[in-house]
Amino acid sequence: MIASCIICNSPYSMDTSPMRYSCECGGLLQLVQDFSGIDADQLKRCFYERRALRHTISASGVWRYKELIAPKLPEDHIVTRNEGNTGLYETESVRQFAGIRRLWLKAQSENPSGSFKDNGMTVAISHGRSLGYRGFACTSTGNTSSSLSMYAATGGLASLILVPDRDVALNKVLQTLAYGAQVRTFTGTYDDGIRWLDNHAETEGLYVCNSINPFRIEGQKSILFELAQDMDWSLPDWIVLPGGALSNASALGKGLHDLYELGFISKLPRVAVIQAEGASPFHRMIANGNVSLTPEQKPSTVASALNIGNPPSWRKARDVLQLTNGVTAAVTDEEIMQAKLHIDRSGIGAEPASAAAVAGLRKLVRDGTIHRDETAACILTGHILKDSDSLRSYRDIPDRIQQVQLAN
Ligand SMILES: *Cc1c(COP(=O)(O)O)cnc(C)c1O
Repeated sequence: MIASCIICNSPYSMDTSPMRYSCECGGLLQLVQDFSGIDADQLKRCFYERRALRHTISASGVWRYKELIAPKLPEDHIVTRNEGNTGLYETESVRQFAGIRRLWLKAQSENPSGSFKDNGMTVAISHGRSLGYRGFACTSTGNTSSSLSMYAATGGLASLILVPDRDVALNKVLQTLAYGAQVRTFTGTYDDGIRWLDNHAETEGLYVCNSINPFRIEGQKSILFELAQDMDWSLPDWIVLPGGALSNASALGKGLHDLYELGFISKLPRVAVIQAEGASPFHRMIANGNVSLTPEQKPSTVASALNIGNPPSWRKARDVLQLTNGVTAAVTDEEIMQAKLHIDRSGIGAEPASAAAVAGLRKLVRDGTIHRDETAACILTGHILKDSDSLRSYRDIPDRIQQVQLAN
């Protein structure tokens, strides 16, 4: 497998260790897919047939699309939990709240570790294993670490997690510990953790699974592939998703590019990337027409999964906006929690970061960027139980708990 630098195009082989995450010039790497031998119609039929298989790697909503993700990765290295296969819901109450004609919610929260991180992580871990790594590491505000440690446990591998000592959701750290990871907390930000891994991972023999890992991006394309297949290859006008490190926005765009190039879809939907106002350097860059990103020194938002001041994948995400005539928006913590309330009450539920997508959609419909007669899909990235601290902010919850005497 070959990756190339997104800035200078230098090629790198990804088939031998040590694993490479970025170019000599500092640019991120992205995998170069060769679709030349692919018969799109035959592959499409294959994708439908595979959905019926329950005991092969095709039972995974990621590996079902292996030809478009990691065609050459040997199957015996794959570590999978049958990830993907998530629900697609049309929910009337959330649609009304967003104010749009038709709305689908793609619940990546239904993944085995409870977030969309599984779609990418299964590919990164499998790739690292194919290179001979036995230890895996990341810096994380939560869901990445839960996902990494789950796959490491599944594959009998070791995991090391660096966690900032504030602004993380306790549940996610506990979940990570429960899967058996070694956890180190430090005083500093997510960005400090990334730097530490840059400098030390290779000497400690660790394969790093942070969002810049290009195999994670390939795996996350499957969210879009599955959405497209579920909608019979006719996507809505808009796809709306939250942006933190911007890996998911990058993957969505790469997946759209792939499907369009192969002729699976005939029209590109527009992409809306929603950030939390307290951590919105990408939105500010786009809104101000700047050519480079100015990091936010003290990011702060209730949506802990979006609390990232220096999103490494901003160039890739910018290219996705260009490709799809996309937009950005920023929403306040209050707007996020209001959207979350509607998603939770609809019976689907989501963590605050995911609710940002719905809050952003509502905002973009209200300001006319998205027309109310258009259609949209929101990616719900994480599970309602991921961040139960945030549920305490529902002020009416104590009033709805009635103390009663049960007489027999
Ligand atoms: C990681 C994460 C995000 C942000 O995705 P990026 O790829 O970092 O932009 C959003 N929501 C949830 C629940 C997440 O875990």
